Amino acid sequence: MDIRPLAELRAAEDLSLAFSPYGLGGRMRPEEAAEFQQRQIADCDLATGVAAGTRDSFERLRTVFAYGVLCYDVYTMVGDQALLIYEQALRDRFMEWCAGTVIFRGPQTPDVSYTVASYDDVKKRADRMMRRRAQLVVGTHGIEFNGTLHGLRQWARTAGLLRGRRSRAVEEALAKLRNHVAHPSGHHVDTPVGAARTVRDLAELINQLWGQATPDGRLYPAPLRREIAVLSWNSSGRTRMEPAGALSAPDSLKDQDDEYQHLVVRAIPFIPGSRWNDEHWAEFDSHYETTQFPTEYLWGPGTRAEARTWLEHERPEGDSADFTDRVFLVQDHEHLLPPMRPAVAAGLPDNQRVGIWHAIRADFPADAFVHVRDSGDRSAGHARHPGDCPACSAEVLGSGSHDDALRAAAAALGPILAVQLPPARLPTSTFWPERPQADPRSD
Ligand SMILES: [Zn+2]
Repeated sequence: MDIRPLAELRAAEDLSLAFSPYGLGGRMRPEEAAEFQQRQIADCDLATGVAAGTRDSFERLRTVFAYGVLCYDVYTMVGDQALLIYEQALRDRFMEWCAGTVIFRGPQTPDVSYTVASYDDVKKRADRMMRRRAQLVVGTHGIEFNGTLHGLRQWARTAGLLRGRRSRAVEEALAKLRNHVAHPSGHHVDTPVGAARTVRDLAELINQLWGQATPDGRLYPAPLRREIAVLSWNSSGRTRMEPAGALSAPDSLKDQDDEYQHLVVRAIPFIPGSRWNDEHWAEFDSHYETTQFPTEYLWGPGTRAEARTWLEHERPEGDSADFTDRVFLVQDHEHLLPPMRPAVAAGLPDNQRVGIWHAIRADFPADAFVHVRDSGDRSAGHARHPGDCPACSAEVLGSGSHDDALRAAAAALGPILAVQLPPARLPTSTFWPERPQADPRSD
């Protein structure tokens, strides 16, 4: 190889300077590029309890990332190394979880526990147990476990350490990339953008494994803050969303347009530029999950003055809501209806329990709906029996009659308390036009 002088090693690489806050194509000064790239991963710190080995590897990765400005190949190496740390984190967490003892259950034999001092011990034991068709005991479950990345992922999900349905699909993709890195079959080059995202995803995954969700995270987000909001609409199809506080302003009733109808809900507030704005807020319907994030019906419909009186009397407060791993019931009767919360389905009168019902776990109602809709087409490869869907980020819990689906939901959630909400919805819908038009409770 050519021996390069120190000055050249210290010089920024042209390609690294091309990535700027405004995308590809500009050109930053080396000092700016060095700072900009480090900022991309500066805030992804690990939780305090994370195992020392995983922490050391992650910190080394963050340190090396900064050198990408001098040597573009570093980004590819960082991305690859991140995927290997993914497996290391699972192994370290497994060792903490098992606390030195793993329990296996044979097909015909009682549970046997084994002492393990290192992950190598776990791996050797798991290999032997697989040959005897014995399963690793995880809480009340037994899982096939061979100690590889696949087995570790299954273990982490069964032990309840990882959550979310869309994040599961990302874990799957990371596992495929990790296998590619461990057994490379071709050349690939990562960009600073790709490498930074892999490092951020890795930080989220490690923190979640050690029980800490990420505020504003992409994979394992912390619960979102919900505030009290007022939704309103008029007969010409105009819709508004305002914070409840807007109604207590001194002149809030002055220009009151009596034509507007109002609802009070608990919802994710609209913040310009936020990753979590609910693009479907104007689809709100008290009977169906037609907004992207959980939106809770509180009062209405009524006039602005009535809404203000109710708010002043009741003084409802915001809360926080986890939107991942929700359970939805989807009713198929004449056409496919929007997803419903199990509690609302449990409160339906008998004549509205008709048709086939599907109980689906998903992060978003649209994910549950699309899974059910597309599972009619066998060539699309969606799961038709209980379990994780290989074609999308839904999990099938069960289907059949209204009772069957509700039982499947209760098996996942625990006892379901029926609620009966007054019908309340904004009149026009772009995303969910297929809803019963008449008041469903008027008969
Ligand atoms: Zn599916």
